[in-house]
Amino acid sequence: MTIETRNYIAGEWREGAGSIESVNPSDLRDRIGHFAQGSAADLEDALAAARQAQPRWGSAGIQKRHDVLMAIGTELMARAGEIGALLSREEGKPLAEGKGEVYRAGQFFTWFAAEALRLHGDQAESVRPGIEIEVRREPVGVAAIVTPWNFPVATPAWKIAPALAYGNAVVWKPANLTPASAAALATVIARQDMPAGTFNMVLGPGSEVGDRLVGHVGVDAVSFTGSGAVGATIAARTLGNRAKLQMEMGSKNPMLIMDDCDLDLAVAHAANAAFGGTGQKCTAASRLIVHEAIFDAFAERLVAAAEALRVGDALAEGTQMGPVVSAGQLAGNLSYLQKGLAEGAQLLTGGTRLERPTEGYFMAPTVLSGTTNAMVVNREEMFAPITCLIRAENYAEALAIANDTPYGLTAGIMTRSLARATHFRANMRAGCVMVNLPTAGTDYHVPFGGRGQSSFGPREQGRYAAEFFTTVKTSYIAAGAPE
Ligand code: NDP
Repeated sequence: MTIETRNYIAGEWREGAGSIESVNPSDLRDRIGHFAQGSAADLEDALAAARQAQPRWGSAGIQKRHDVLMAIGTELMARAGEIGALLSREEGKPLAEGKGEVYRAGQFFTWFAAEALRLHGDQAESVRPGIEIEVRREPVGVAAIVTPWNFPVATPAWKIAPALAYGNAVVWKPANLTPASAAALATVIARQDMPAGTFNMVLGPGSEVGDRLVGHVGVDAVSFTGSGAVGATIAARTLGNRAKLQMEMGSKNPMLIMDDCDLDLAVAHAANAAFGGTGQKCTAASRLIVHEAIFDAFAERLVAAAEALRVGDALAEGTQMGPVVSAGQLAGNLSYLQKGLAEGAQLLTGGTRLERPTEGYFMAPTVLSGTTNAMVVNREEMFAPITCLIRAENYAEALAIANDTPYGLTAGIMTRSLARATHFRANMRAGCVMVNLPTAGTDYHVPFGGRGQSSFGPREQGRYAAEFFTTVKTSYIAAGAPE
C-alpha cells in the first residue's frame, strides 16, 4: 500500500508547512515515513471548506449518505489485513489486534450507514387548536474531531462515521504519534464522492493545530478522546464559542475478584484487561480488587499468566503483547513504577524494559501487590502494562474501593453470585459494567462512555450518537382553513 503523507483539505491532498517522522516502536530502525504538518492557514482552509460543503452534504439525502458510509466500511473491512498491519507497525499492538481494530472501524461505518436511514423525528399535537408540531433532527454543522494514538483508526471511525451519517462536515486532527494509520483511514474516506470539504484531515501538534481547531469560531461541535489534562483545556476553549462538546478521557478501571469466582477465568480476564494493547486502553483494568480469601492464589496465578505472555515485535507471529508506543510513554510508565515502589508497593513481576532482537520500547507486564487505593498508582491513569492488586476483606469493601475514584469508565466483577453481580451492576458508578468479562472489550452498536472525570457530554456510539451529532428543531405549522 502506498501511504499518503499529506493533509486532506477541501478535497485535495496538500503538502504542509513541515513534517514529522513516524517510527516503528517495535524496531526503531524502521522509519515508516514523513508526514505533513498543517499550518494555521491549512486549518483555516479546511474549516472554510467544511463550512461551505456542509449544507450540500446535509441535503445530499440519506440514501447518498448511506451509500458513502457503506462503501467506506466495506473497504475498511476488506483491507483490514493490510491497514491493520500498518497500524500494528506504527502503534505497536499485535497484528491480530491491529487487523481487528481496522475491521471494527469498518463496522462503525456500515452500522452508521444504516442509521442514516433510520433518523426519525416526532410529530405532536399542539395545545393550540389548528397547529401541528414536528420535531426533527438536523446536522449540527462543522464537527472538529481530535483523537489519540492508542486506537488510531477505530476511535476516529466511531466519531467520523456518525458525524457524516447525520449530515455534518468534519475537520479531523489525528494524533501525531500515529500519522500513517490516520492517513490510511483518510485515504479510504477521501475516495468517496462527497462535496469537496465534507471531510478534512489536518495533522499537526495538538498544542498548536488541535488547540486552534477546538477554539475556532467556525466549529459547531468538538468530539475529543485523550487525556484529562487536555480535555480540561479543550472544555475551556469551546465554552467561549458555545460549541457542543463530547469528551472521552482517562480512567482507573477496577475489577473485583470475588472469593466465589471461577479463578482460572478471573486470571485470564484480568490478564487480558490489564495487558491487552500493552495496557494502553482507556478500558484497561489497572486496579484488581481481590477478596482476601483468594488473594494469594489469584496473585500467584496472575504472575504466572503475566510471565507467560510473549512480549515482542507487534508484527511477529505469536506476539501477545507489543511494545509501548513511544519513548515518552515508556519513561512515564517506569516513573509511575518508581512512585508505586516508593509508596510501599511490592513488585511481584515485571517492572523492567525488555531486550529483544530489535531495539524497541518493550516493557515486561508488571504486577504490583500490597497497594492501597490511596497510592498514586491507583489514583492516576498510567496507560501502562502495570496492574495493581488491592486486598479487600469482603464484597462491600471491594465495591467501596472500586467507587473511590474520580473516574468511572468501565468496571468489572468476577463472581458466581447472582446477588453480588446484580448489586454491583446497580451500585458501581461507571458508564460500562462487566460481569464475568474483562473491563476492556465493548460492542459497536451500543453506547460507550463513562462518568465523573472519564467523560463529558452525550454518549458516543450506537443510537445515542445522534444526541451529539444532530440538533433538534421544533416546527409549529398553522394549517389554516382550506379555500
Ligand atoms: P493527549 O490528550 O495529549 O492527546 C490526544 C489528542 O489531543 C492528540 O491528537 C493530541 O495531539 C491532541 N492534543 C494535545 N494537546 C491538545 C490541545 N491543547 N488542544 C487540542 N488537542 C490537543 O493524549 P496523549 O495521546 O498524549 O496521551 C497522554 C495520556 O493521555 C496517556 O498516557 C493516557 O493517560 C491518556 N490517554 C487516554 C486515552 C483514552 O482513550 N482515554 C487515549 C489516549 C491517551 P498530538 O498527539 O498530535 O499532540
